[in-house]
Amino acid sequence: MTHLDGNALAGTFADALGSEFIDALGQCAGCRHRAVLAKAHAYVTEMGAVARCEECNGVLAVIVQTETEVLVNLSGLANMSIARGE
Ligand SMILES: [Zn+2]
Repeated sequence: MTHLDGNALAGTFADALGSEFIDALGQCAGCRHRAVLAKAHAYVTEMGAVARCEECNGVLAVIVQTETEVLVNLSGLANMSIARGE
């Protein structure tokens, strides 16, 4: 499966976590690469989305959407920082 630019995650991540999430800085738990999540490699399907590290291809985040809930796994992120709104 070919990956998309991380901006393809914007809609799915905004629905699950808020619109600020895609601009957040995230650090890969695997290789410690730090970048905005919009630069991650995005794999988007009808069920949800996977964000992979642009450096090591490790899974950073998984979002699965069902009819009744949204499941979010951020275990591939060592940390994340989101700028405060004005
Ligand atoms: Zn990495």
